[in-house]
Amino acid sequence: MTIDLSEKQRIAIAIGANTGDISANFRITLKELEAGGVGNIRTSKFYRTAPVDCPPDSQDFINGALIGTWGGSPEKLLELCKNIEEAAGRPSIHEKSSSRPLDLDIIFFGNKIHRSENLTIPHKEAAKRLFVLVPLADVAGGWLFPGKNLSVKNILDNLASADRSAYISIISSVVTLE
Ligand code: ADP
Ligand code: MG
Repeated sequence: MTIDLSEKQRIAIAIGANTGDISANFRITLKELEAGGVGNIRTSKFYRTAPVDCPPDSQDFINGALIGTWGGSPEKLLELCKNIEEAAGRPSIHEKSSSRPLDLDIIFFGNKIHRSENLTIPHKEAAKRLFVLVPLADVAGGWLFPGKNLSVKNILDNLASADRSAYISIISSVVTLE
């Protein structure tokens, strides 16, 4: 699919981390995204969440989400995100699911479906993960998942009823970052 870059796209990014100075890394991320061209950033609340599909003894994560606008290609946005991850100390080559000082995942790019070797949008796991959907619903509850006739809030509600205790545990763990 070709993407019309003549206008800015609304984009949504999930932000997470479970090692290092998470507050500092999130603060720097917002500055760097802005400096890199992401406009009108709005952030969700931040939540402490239990590791999912991670090695034993992994520390809890802090998860959030942000929306903004972006005038370039999806690949350029991924490049910006990866540069910010690396600057925060995440090696570009790392074990899948390993602990990380910063993880930036592009969840939505307008209402586009994008699939290339190194980039899938909407993010493959987004619709399955409470730790993505809970913060995303703070800033993009009404956003329809491209290809589904369901909003972020619809999908979150379904998942929350299926796993009530995981949902309650996330929503009751809002954290204040310095
Ligand atoms: P995870 O976030 O699942 O822990 P990584 O952060 O290690 O995985 O990312 C692995 C690769 O996933 C990245 O190098 C990137 O090329 C690819 N990827 C595919 N789709 C996306 C997306 N929507 N957002 C961010 N990375 C993506
Ligand atoms: Mg990632």
